[in-house]
Amino acid sequence: MRMAIFGSGYVGLVTSVCFAELGHSVVAVDKDPEIVGRLADGVPTLYEPGLEELLGTNLRAGRLTFTTSAQPALESSEIAFLCVGTPALPDGSADLSQVDDVVASIAPGMHRYRLLVEKSTVPVDTATCIGRAMRQLTGPDAEFEVASNPEFLREGSAIQDFLHPDRVVIGADSERARALLLDLYRHAFTCPILVTSVKMAELIKHAANAFLSTKISFINMVADLCESVGGDISVVARGIGLDHRIGPQFLQAGLGFGGSCFGKDLKAFVRIAEEHGIDFDLLRDVERINAARVDRFVKKIERALWVIRNKTLGVLGVAFKANTDDVRDAPSLRLIPQLLQRGASLQIYDPRAATAFARLHPADDHVRYVASPYEAARGAHGLLILTDWEEFRTLDWDQLRAAMRSRVIIDGRNLFEPSEVREKDFEYFSLGRGDSGTATPPAPPRLDADETLPSRRR
Ligand code: NAD
Repeated sequence: MRMAIFGSGYVGLVTSVCFAELGHSVVAVDKDPEIVGRLADGVPTLYEPGLEELLGTNLRAGRLTFTTSAQPALESSEIAFLCVGTPALPDGSADLSQVDDVVASIAPGMHRYRLLVEKSTVPVDTATCIGRAMRQLTGPDAEFEVASNPEFLREGSAIQDFLHPDRVVIGADSERARALLLDLYRHAFTCPILVTSVKMAELIKHAANAFLSTKISFINMVADLCESVGGDISVVARGIGLDHRIGPQFLQAGLGFGGSCFGKDLKAFVRIAEEHGIDFDLLRDVERINAARVDRFVKKIERALWVIRNKTLGVLGVAFKANTDDVRDAPSLRLIPQLLQRGASLQIYDPRAATAFARLHPADDHVRYVASPYEAARGAHGLLILTDWEEFRTLDWDQLRAAMRSRVIIDGRNLFEPSEVREKDFEYFSLGRGDSGTATPPAPPRLDADETLPSRRR
């Protein structure tokens, strides 16, 4: 199939290289000439495992091109995916101006049937607005339809998620649109494909993100309770996650969710519910709990180090999650200013996201970007772990011990077993588990899922 993909950010770029990899002919359009120039030269504009290889292969094969020109891209395509940003406006509703800009840029070329497909996350009924805006620009004769095909990929495993999704959702209100989208997915994907109306597809995406963020805030509240009663959140998470109705995913207590999606999608979902007379207070609480995670972590740092002023802190990880260079809405963006305001000096290391973070917080007398976890630890009074990069799970304790001024680790991602870190002679503070100096309950016997004792049927 020949397709145009508007927006070459995290979703648009992954969508473009993956559809090209599946054999389609893809023209990727971004309004930013710098992004287009780099991608056309095979240089990735963002980090995502496997992206660079797929970009190079498909450029060389001639299945993928990049351009800033909407018209020629549309001319050669029967289907156009909208993958532009939908950030939050100050009132929480979704800013759909990038979507509207795409509509304006392609309207003059709508001479024959085109299917426009929302892949951006948009509030329910956006397709109707796109249709109306397009009709106003094209007049009554233009032949087009608007469908929805929400994207569920996770940054950090985006290529894998795109090519091997749990499900594909197709929202289409006509046989022709349904057939085009089914044709695209049916042969290449073995997962369930849910075909529904456009409105339902739009709702499914917002509801999915709202539910996942609710799970995270829920487990973080249980973690706080565990901490108060001297318990261990990882045991509780395991205990509830083994229930298939609940599942183990998204039950890791930590600094809360970040990234470009959950926060703004929650806000937009609450707003759209309000507009329809539904008070979604539950989701407001999810947001409030998430916002409080960073303040709670600052208190933990104070408990661990007492006075923060004039302390040197090593910071491991600023990306909102592992395997990405994305720092949008990352907890680090809220934490670092608080630490600087309290007079700390920071030595920051992130394997991929330091450059993006440094654009927002340039190096100065109190902020240094370093090239390894051990440089971050050098002379530090404490080491903070903010991102769950795999590299941090295998730190060399002897090197850390030699580098640090005092051996204190404050872990916002619960990467280690507390007893193991204490055996290495470090003070260890994590979330929802016994901290150094507080009573830790004896570790319960651990059983892996496949070791779980068989139940006896009566
Ligand atoms: P992004 O900000 O990384 O990328 C958007 C791109 O669109 C930018 O490169 C921008 O230059 C380009 N753009 C803006 N206006 C344009 C126009 N008129 N014509 C052509 N290009 C234009 O955004 P993203 O993270 O890729 O997210 C895109 C959408 O996908 C959002 O709605 C988001 O909620 C949704 N989504 C994101 C993720 C994720 O993990 N990032 C996952 C699923 C869904």
